[in-house]
Amino acid sequence: MLVTRHVLAASSPYAAPYYIVRGTNPGPVMMITSGVHGNETASMAAAQKLADDCIAGRYVIHRGTLIIVPRVNQQAYAREIRGKPDLNRTFPRRKSGKAKHPLAAAVFRLARAHQPDWWLDLHEANGLSQLSPRVLGQTLITNPGSSSVAICRKIIERMNRSIPVHKHHFNLKRHELPGSARTAAARLLSAKSVTVETCWSLKRAVRIRYQTEIVHHFLREAGMS
Ligand SMILES: [Zn+2]
Repeated sequence: MLVTRHVLAASSPYAAPYYIVRGTNPGPVMMITSGVHGNETASMAAAQKLADDCIAGRYVIHRGTLIIVPRVNQQAYAREIRGKPDLNRTFPRRKSGKAKHPLAAAVFRLARAHQPDWWLDLHEANGLSQLSPRVLGQTLITNPGSSSVAICRKIIERMNRSIPVHKHHFNLKRHELPGSARTAAARLLSAKSVTVETCWSLKRAVRIRYQTEIVHHFLREAGMS
């Protein structure tokens, strides 16, 4: 396994570190982004921890290539805000279309260069989906018709089995969101793309653990770890 560190949008105001983890054997490509919204701190911490664990050899990618961008929107992160404009509405909407923000353009260029089979975009949201169908906290979100639905269901089942508090359980949502990384990855790159949303009102350590466990489940399901 080889881990290399790079900088996205280097020598621009949007410069953001990212990591490429190459497994010993060939296999799928998975892209993990976090911090598209700069105030969703547990998801960013989980993504950075995964990169750190790979660097230290505590977590091993056996097959394929993992690309991690732990804090996409560095400016929003520094100010502890979601970011304006909402970066997750600026990804390209059609094959011939362009991203509406230089940072989304840089992220999507990286994706195009690596053609990910999988794209996990880690977020955090308000509310508990178990209590209200209108909120996004504790959900996995795919685009309608995504080939990742069966695996998402399996992972939700496993997560929920390990979560004793019923209202903290995860649910699946299917939603087309033009301009989001998830929908761009699905529609333009044919990637199995999933948005992971933990609920802000849970303890930070718990949210980091959920994010980490979900990502580990996906890596195992993809045959990479
Ligand atoms: Zn978000």
